[in-house]
Amino acid sequence: MQPFFVLLIKWQITNPLIMNHLYPLILLLMIFSLSATTGCNKTPKMQQIKARKTDLHQDEAAKQDQDTSKTYEVQKTKEEWKKILTTSEYRILRGGGTELPYINKYYDNKKEGVYYCAACGQPLFTSKTKYHSGTGWPSFWAPIKPSAVEEKEDHSLFITRTEIVCSRCGSHIGHVFHDGPKPTGLRYCMNSTALDFFPMNLSKVNTDTLSVLTKKD
Ligand SMILES: [Zn+2]
Repeated sequence: MQPFFVLLIKWQITNPLIMNHLYPLILLLMIFSLSATTGCNKTPKMQQIKARKTDLHQDEAAKQDQDTSKTYEVQKTKEEWKKILTTSEYRILRGGGTELPYINKYYDNKKEGVYYCAACGQPLFTSKTKYHSGTGWPSFWAPIKPSAVEEKEDHSLFITRTEIVCSRCGSHIGHVFHDGPKPTGLRYCMNSTALDFFPMNLSKVNTDTLSVLTKKD
């Protein structure tokens, strides 16, 4: 007598309904959940740990808004941030959250222009350093200028990563990794939700002296 699971597999293989419809659906669901939990990291081994990220972000949100160790140029209370940011903007910018890959605004944006901080309007990146990383998130090999962003050690998920925050308001934008292209070798893996893009002819502007957008101050 054959074990039950062998009989089950034989039945599945010979059943056209399952082979033609259910298996592709299950495969799609597996691929989607894989990419959603992998985050900016490219290492598949971290998938299970990443799945816990959503819960951890809730704690990060509380921690970040209570963090008074540094005074940024733009300082707001939790309530003030909630008034000017959408729910998803608040979750990512003030809570250290990560949006889903591929279904975000800018991962495939190829237009020329400038990416501003969606919280305070500081210019952060330009299309000049944007590249296709294949991760599903907008990726850059350098910020608009080094002083636009700050690096912070992120010990969430039981590993150490380098978090990128806006240097003007301290909001979480994404993470940086050392697997980017030349000339820096860096991959700034950013959240579209944390950025506001404005099309611009970069040959006609000095990106070092771009002014801050004041719409959210
Ligand atoms: Zn900012």
